Amino acid sequence: MAAEAGPISKVLIVVAMQTEATPLVSKFKLVEAPAHESTFPKGAPWVRYHGNYKGLHIDLVLPGKDAVFGVDSVGTVSTALVTSFSIQTLKPDLIINAGTAGGFKAKGASIGDVFLASDVAFHDRRIPIPVFDMYGIGARKTFAAPNILKELNLKVGKLSTGDSLDMSPHDEEVILSNDATIKDMEGAAVAYVADMFSTPAIFVKAVTDIVDGEKPTSEEFLQNLIAVTAALDLAVTKVVDFISGKHISDL
Ligand code: SAH
Repeated sequence: MAAEAGPISKVLIVVAMQTEATPLVSKFKLVEAPAHESTFPKGAPWVRYHGNYKGLHIDLVLPGKDAVFGVDSVGTVSTALVTSFSIQTLKPDLIINAGTAGGFKAKGASIGDVFLASDVAFHDRRIPIPVFDMYGIGARKTFAAPNILKELNLKVGKLSTGDSLDMSPHDEEVILSNDATIKDMEGAAVAYVADMFSTPAIFVKAVTDIVDGEKPTSEEFLQNLIAVTAALDLAVTKVVDFISGKHISDL
């Protein structure tokens, strides 16, 4: 990794939704890479913004709009694809997967909290055959960033990832056994790709909805998305400010 030789110079921010991306794009004064300059393969709906901020080169990528339905391509498959291609072509020193998540109040999460995930796992990959079961869960520790945690006063918790916004009883069981405090639709997929290509990745997730609460998730999610995105952007900005001038080993 290039980062070992000197301070961090390239950061890749991976987000799932345009609503999450827009404030970061303006905060870091990023510009969209025009189609004719794009390194992305033809046909991919992926979007990349880039720019320089406090001595760092920042690339912010998102999976883009679904070609058929026109909505943000949230979820594991689309996000893993854009992450994989971006790592290979942009060669980041560090990945920040920033996004929203559901939180469990029984585990201490509240709306607007920003978490740094210590661990990630999947909760909807059921393969009840020895060893394949563990592959399905795919639990892994994330890159430890104790100084970011300390400096920014973020909450810490385990993140469980699946391709559904809601939670089936079976998902719930697995999420519990994953010991997760927060739940999203991309984190463990980003972690899988980042590990594959030996790139450190951190997961900054802001809570839009309480999964073990009274309100229906989709309603609560939409109600809080804008306000919580502001909290997320503030936290990501602080993380990037902290990273500026540091080595990977300082995080
Ligand atoms: N109807 C929404 C759909 C967004 S999907 C819209 O387009 O406005 C939810 C996104 O937020 C995913 O990227 C996911 O990672 C995150 N998320 C927020 N709360 C979640 C929860 N309770 N469970 C899973 N993912 C959640």
